[in-house]
Amino acid sequence: MKRNRPLSLAFTFLAVLLLVSCTGPAQPREPYKISETAIRNHHQALYDIATKAEGLDAGVRLNEAGDKAAQYLLQGFKDAGLQNARFEEFYPLRWWPEKYELIALTGSDAAGKKLTAFPLWYCEGVKDRELELVSVGYGTPGEWLDVDVEGKAVLMDMKRILHFIPSYNYTMGKNLALSNGAAALIIADTLIDSPSGNPIGDGGKIKDQKGIDPKLYPLPTLSIGKSDGDFLRNAVKAGPTKVRINLEYTMTEGRTVNVVGELPGNGKIDEYIIVGGHYDTWFQGAVDNHGSQASMLEMAKYFAKMPQAERNRHLIFVSLFGHEFGNAAMGHAAFVEKHADIKEKVTCFLNIDGSGSWGYEEKDNTGEIYPTNKDDKSGIFATSWPLVGIAEESTYGLAKGPWGQYPINSMVADLGGPLFEAGWPCLLIISKHIYYHTMLDTMEKITPDQVYRRTLMNISIINRLLNSPPGYLIAVDGNPNRQREVKEIADVSIQVIPDTIREGSMVMAWPGYWDIDMVIRPDGVTYDFGDGTPSVTRLATNHVYLKEGAYTITMTVKDARGRTGVAKRTTTVTK
Ligand SMILES: [Zn+2]
Repeated sequence: MKRNRPLSLAFTFLAVLLLVSCTGPAQPREPYKISETAIRNHHQALYDIATKAEGLDAGVRLNEAGDKAAQYLLQGFKDAGLQNARFEEFYPLRWWPEKYELIALTGSDAAGKKLTAFPLWYCEGVKDRELELVSVGYGTPGEWLDVDVEGKAVLMDMKRILHFIPSYNYTMGKNLALSNGAAALIIADTLIDSPSGNPIGDGGKIKDQKGIDPKLYPLPTLSIGKSDGDFLRNAVKAGPTKVRINLEYTMTEGRTVNVVGELPGNGKIDEYIIVGGHYDTWFQGAVDNHGSQASMLEMAKYFAKMPQAERNRHLIFVSLFGHEFGNAAMGHAAFVEKHADIKEKVTCFLNIDGSGSWGYEEKDNTGEIYPTNKDDKSGIFATSWPLVGIAEESTYGLAKGPWGQYPINSMVADLGGPLFEAGWPCLLIISKHIYYHTMLDTMEKITPDQVYRRTLMNISIINRLLNSPPGYLIAVDGNPNRQREVKEIADVSIQVIPDTIREGSMVMAWPGYWDIDMVIRPDGVTYDFGDGTPSVTRLATNHVYLKEGAYTITMTVKDARGRTGVAKRTTTVTK
């Protein structure tokens, strides 16, 4: 694979930035040069801790591996030179699957075939139940019409919108399974050959981990990878198929910790910049989220070595627990609660989940994945335009790869929810490759160079935050007015599910690949569905076709620099 390695460029940029931002009398200080090797060593160490926990999680069930990761990070904060490095305890109620199994019973195969399945979090359990299996495609409303699912197990296909939002949340499949009386749900990833982790319970309700009624999703739900999905889909097509499902869970209260360290500012501006990310992971978690944690340790060192006189604000670094398994950021919620006293003084909570990786995309709608040989696309979520502006300035210079700027209300509950709801200004910079939340989130998908450049980018963002005028980022919410007049054609592709639908049913559309270095804004994506209805401006959208025919869906993307790209796909509507 080709590597992008503009290190000297990045250094030059950083040096210039620091020179410009240094306001003291002459004598520019040489900043601490962060080490790519040191970051990779932290990355590998955290990855090994997660992988040894039987390939599952560094934070599984508040277990030994989770403790080990927390200890490693605490030591890392201390070694970096952070002050008052400590654990902040909290006691969440945890849903935990104790036993789970999915057996396919097809044709005359009495013993059945054991599939590689993994439960979706916060769903109901079931004990060794045999159920007839039916298939509903992606679960869009029209796909349920001719299928009797009452009392049966439902096979539902899934892709991730923009790599991280499971389609069943948007096709309504998750709710239609309930209203149509299904007895169990099997979610098949149509791209990735691994089951994937995702919560399916009611995020808003689960967030209050102190409650004893966490509102589980009422169907037992297991996730499977592409080949097991193909196997089941073909079996259903060939004839009556049954599955045996077992899913036993417990609900217990346990102790866990956020890891916190601080750097006081010079007293000029009594505001806080908080840099955080989660340290628990699904599976091995190379990208999500050990890369970011490794990056944060070196970032902490960088700012600890910056003389206090140059730090115009206070800095807090925090490794948060319970992002993946809590579904609503237990650690984030606990942190916000514990630090309510600084609420009015937060310049920004910079969430650094997902620090770069290789790009992988689906080739049109073939179900095949190809490497883009470039950095993967990343997202900027921010609570104000000035924060978007700060992020964009730093991404253009330092991080290669396509970028999207997403509306803050699309920030899923477990990323920014508790911060956003508490009124903290926040900025989330996130990359998730297509293998996100699967067993294939492994080290070769992310290079030391990618995390290194992302670290430089975050340092650049933090420097901009440190040096912004007092109160500016807290109070201002206007357009930063930094539109550039660059007119070029950009390369974009469109994703549409399902391929064919019936009259009166719905398709989902969203951007697939887009050009390197392009920042898409949510008001910059327009869809024309080719049936005479008005076009729709939205990042991802759905559309109902009323009459049979072949329609061309045209997606036009305009980026933050004024470049445009057009992608088209044809969809067939039948009677
Ligand atoms: Zn995750």
